Amino acid sequence: RYYLISSFLMLLLTGLAFYFLFRVMRSQRLYTQARLAFTGNMTHELKTPVAIIDAALDAITRYQLTHDPVKLENYIDISKTELQRLNQMIDKVLNLEQLDNGGIRLQPELYDVQQGLESVVNAMRLRNEKQGAIINYLPSAEPCFVDGDPVHLTNVFYNIIDNALKYSGDNAIITITCNCSHQDVRISIADNGPGIQKIHQERIFERFFRVTDNPDIHNVKGSGLGLYYVRQIVNLHKGTISVHSSGQGSTFIIDLPAYNEV
Ligand code: ADP
Repeated sequence: RYYLISSFLMLLLTGLAFYFLFRVMRSQRLYTQARLAFTGNMTHELKTPVAIIDAALDAITRYQLTHDPVKLENYIDISKTELQRLNQMIDKVLNLEQLDNGGIRLQPELYDVQQGLESVVNAMRLRNEKQGAIINYLPSAEPCFVDGDPVHLTNVFYNIIDNALKYSGDNAIITITCNCSHQDVRISIADNGPGIQKIHQERIFERFFRVTDNPDIHNVKGSGLGLYYVRQIVNLHKGTISVHSSGQGSTFIIDLPAYNEV
């Protein structure tokens, strides 16, 4: 009887060991795949704007000779947009590097969430003027303050609203709300994009992860770093972030502890 029990336990332990080994190997394989995809994406993301700026500068040199102000302005606009994109990519990589080295030290201060959101919304409206996107912002009647790092929290809002616009494509409608209580500041960012399947909803916060099986967003470029950074920053502020999506559209919800004077 003793022999039977010990054999059974041995079998159980070996089974468990194999199961965990299999899981570790599987997650390592997925990580390697994601990392390889990231290198490919990044090469594209960095090289494309450089090539476009190069071509635009050539065109500017040509049209300068023919004194065509409309064309000149158009190519200067293109160069500026691409430079901005390049800058954002560099920031993302640098922020991630800092996160990995434990190098992000928050510099918290009394941060007005509504003011932060408004500044990002205004910048986004200006940037997307030509695409016809609608960005609705519904502020809270109550003041909304947190003990937060202005630079990183602004980056968080920027990343999520940028994704909402990017993945919703033409005719994007984004609705941002801010609701505040004594304990909590809740920010919600909803879009009318393709939505995110249940099986991907946790994984999108992993580093490098991108949804690749949705044909609607197959051509949208990215690095898979944004939401990973966003969740780390929200967590460093003792907050939470989650996504809700069933079918069309996605809603990202951020909860942050409200600022308390004591
Ligand atoms: P990326 O640079 O790829 O946008 P993120 O980390 O910001 O990286 O997002 C991870 C993935 O989550 C994206 O590749 C995309 O598949 C999905 N995703 C993020 N936001 C949205 C959204 N608003 N609508 C649909 N899919 C989204």
